[in-house]
Parts: sequence; structure tokens; C-alpha cells
Amino acid sequence: MEKAKLNNITLDEEDAALFNLKDDFLLKAKAIKYSILPKLNVLLEETVSRIRKIYGIEVFSENSIVHSAPNFREKRRSDLKIDYNYAFWGLGGSRLPIWDGLKRVDNKPTKIIPHIIGYQFSNNGLMLVFHNSKYKLKFTEKTCEIYLNFLLENMEYIQTIQSFSKMLPLLTNFRESESIIKPFSEILKSCKKDKFYDIPFIRKVKFPLDYNSFNSIINSFVIFFPIYYSLLEIARSKKSPLKELVTKINHNNLYYNYQDVENKKPQTTDEKILLNIDKSKFVKAGVRWQVFERDDFKCIACGKSAHDGAILHVDHIIPISKGGSNTMDNYQTLCHLCNIGKSNKSKKNLRYN
Ligand SMILES: [Zn+2]
Repeated sequence: MEKAKLNNITLDEEDAALFNLKDDFLLKAKAIKYSILPKLNVLLEETVSRIRKIYGIEVFSENSIVHSAPNFREKRRSDLKIDYNYAFWGLGGSRLPIWDGLKRVDNKPTKIIPHIIGYQFSNNGLMLVFHNSKYKLKFTEKTCEIYLNFLLENMEYIQTIQSFSKMLPLLTNFRESESIIKPFSEILKSCKKDKFYDIPFIRKVKFPLDYNSFNSIINSFVIFFPIYYSLLEIARSKKSPLKELVTKINHNNLYYNYQDVENKKPQTTDEKILLNIDKSKFVKAGVRWQVFERDDFKCIACGKSAHDGAILHVDHIIPISKGGSNTMDNYQTLCHLCNIGKSNKSKKNLRYN
């Protein structure tokens, strides 16, 4: 199957409203797995390919694996009773090599590194998040110090990267309902004082989420990548490659070719970001999710699903412009290929032309 590309996908308010769904957790879990996560995967695939092109780094053979959430098994009933409130697809440290640059307080070897960077979609929209939130619980002061010193010594580079990637450092954990954005230098000072290292960075993009905003958030990831990658290399007791990677950014004119669709205000002043909207509201499944569920999350023309790399769309059988109605029986699930009439495997063509 032809891989879905950036211009085959969108994420809209109805997708975001999925996370407010309270009447059907099973449908919600399936919709996240078969509709939302495959779209985030398209973003990550494009990201990884740009990283390869710009830095010459093959992330999956070097130090990273796909990190995704939620992970659930449909056969396990308890998994499907959970009210999942976000979908995440990104990179995290792989289980090998051993991260011998990170010393744990209990002296056990570090097998899992807590650095994660990726795309998070929730009722709040799309964000790029980087976090390392397990540090203060698990690692020695010495380890935290190595990391903080890296950040302090490379402050100039990091602030440039941070500003061009539009990633904002947060003082508190990004999962909390409200987080305060502080100047980076101030966060570092308080980390050093309290002897912990836990600085999430986020960037939020606004609806409509289509090619332009996806392109912009992928650029943020690619520009921020040297920080993630350097922290991982330090965790393998290697020298920080930050400066060489930044040279590659400059060489590729990444900062300057990066035309953004949004006009963002400067991010050094204190600012509050509301990270959650009211979850208590009772929301029923939108038509899109009912159509997907009725069609078993498969393209009704070629039978492909997310397992085969299909991105699913809801399509009007008879277009509204030709007298079609907005009722369930006038909707069908099509994959990204059948939706534009590109698939030659269609068994039937329910489309009215
Ligand atoms: Zn199809």
C-alpha cells in the first residue's frame, strides 16, 4: 500500500473532541488506535526522514525507538475501560545500549532512559512535547548535575534552538492543568538550587491542523532534535554532539528556510498555558466515530485498515452539492487512496460522480 503522506491527513476539532467522549470508552480506544495514532505516525515518519537528510542520523539504528501511548490490547477487557485522555507518538531512548552515563540512586543499571520527544494530541489540540520527568525520582544528584552543566555550558546554542523551534520550557510538568512558562535561565537556576533536572518543553499549534501546521511542527521537532539527541549521547557516556549538529542546521539553512505559518510572540515573559479544557462535559460520539465503528475501522472499498497503513476518512456517498444528506446512511469509510480514487483494488465504487 502506498504510504500516506502529510497532505493525506488532517486533524480537526471533531478529532480533538474524541478525548471528551464519555459514553463509549471502547469506541474511544479504537478510534485512538485506528484513526489518531496512524496520523501521528505519518508525522513521525516525515520527521525521521528529515532528520536523516539534515543530520545524517538514522535514529532507529542509533539510540531511539518509537514511543507511543496509549498501548492497549483489545482482548484485555480492563484496558478498554480506561478513559484515555491523550494520544502520543514519538521517539524515546531504546533499551539498548546500556545508559551507563546515568547513575540511579538504587545503583541498578539504567535500562530505560526517560527522555521522550513526540507529538501529543488531546482535547487541547496538537503539541510537540519533550520531557524527562522521571529524573528527580530515579537518578543521582551527580547525574542531574552532568545534565544541568551541559545545559548551562551550551546555553547559547540551546536558547537559539529553543527559539527557532518555538519550544517553550515549562516550570511544572506539562500534564498539569496549568503550567507557567519561565525564562530558561531562571528554570535552570531553580533546578540547580533544588538539585533536580526536569524541564519539559512544549509547542502547541492551533487548528486547522493540515499540511502547513504539520510542516511547521515537524520543523520544530527537527530543529529541537540536537538537544534530545545530545542528552541521549551523554547518557551513553559519550561526548555531546550538540555543536556539530547545530553546524548542520546552519549548513542546511534550516533556521532561515523555516517559514512559519504562525506569528508567535516572544516567549521569554511569564505566560500561562491552559492545557486542559473542561473534561466534565458529557460528549457523545460524533458522526465520524459512529461511521468508523459501523464500518469496523476499515475502508469499505478496499478493506484496508490502520494495520495496512491506511489513513481513514469519512466520505459522503452522495455529495451535499448533489443532494446528499448528512445522515449515517450517506457516509462511508474510505482509506486515503480510495478517497481520492487512486486505489485500483476497489471492489466497489460507492462514490457518486
Ligand atoms: Zn481503500
